[in-house]
Amino acid sequence: MSANDIHIVKPGSKARLGDTDPSKTPGLSGPKDLEKAAAIRELAQNAEAMKLLQRRLYAESKRSLLIVLQGMDCGGKDGTIRHVLGPLNPQGIRVASFKKPTDEELSHDFLWRIHRQTPAKGEIGVFNRSHYEDVLVVRVLNLVPRAQWRERYDRINEFERALADSGTRILKFMLHISKDEQKQRLEARLADPDKAWKFNLGDLDTRSRWDEYMEAYTDAIEKCSTDYAPWFVIPADRKWYRNWAISSIVRRELESMDPKPPAKPEELEGVTIE
Ligand code: AMP
Ligand code: MG
Repeated sequence: MSANDIHIVKPGSKARLGDTDPSKTPGLSGPKDLEKAAAIRELAQNAEAMKLLQRRLYAESKRSLLIVLQGMDCGGKDGTIRHVLGPLNPQGIRVASFKKPTDEELSHDFLWRIHRQTPAKGEIGVFNRSHYEDVLVVRVLNLVPRAQWRERYDRINEFERALADSGTRILKFMLHISKDEQKQRLEARLADPDKAWKFNLGDLDTRSRWDEYMEAYTDAIEKCSTDYAPWFVIPADRKWYRNWAISSIVRRELESMDPKPPAKPEELEGVTIE
């Protein structure tokens, strides 16, 4: 079975976050050190294949791919962007990170800031956090009344449907780490002068509400995994596994899109260069 089939949350089915062990490495077989070596080798092969597909997508300029990354703090969103998408041509990639909304953003509907960051035709867009924060942190911290966030699942599905109908393929990844793994990563951040800047006291408050976040994730994934914008739950305690699984799924999606550069224009036939 491919990484795609294992991790996809089929529309209408349960997200089963509690049953998905974040340290597991399904889809790879063999002793752990061999699995890891194979995953790292395949990650590099996936990157080579994706480079070519990206070039064709850009040349074709008719469709786009949107990759949504969500997860708890230290879940590996930045690392995924670096390792999985870093090898691609920066000219064809649009990365958007969504933080706490500004006053201006809050004065519009919640999708306003999102829509303007969606990839143009030919581009690969990456969302580091996304419109899902508006049914995750917003729900857990009661930032808007319940009736308001409950409406948003439908709004999100309609929005993603509209993007899909205009030629955007959407893949959504929940980077699923365990609470223990987060503890270790937060401790490592605190101890490393090069990483401490990423540590935010607010992250501890978020951590203390772990179960509420898992509930909110479960609902968001179950209500918003669709044929046109599926969710994938990726076991992410092992960084090499996370990178392998995501790159395999993205590669396969690009292959199935099968982008083609436009045919050589007739007027170029027989042209010679003096
Ligand atoms: P980071 O990704 O670690 O830089 O943190 C960004 C912070 O912004 C996280 O704590 C998110 O929960 C928060 N954030 C992102 N989007 C929203 C939103 N729509 N409403 C409230 N907080 C948000
Ligand atoms: Mg953070």
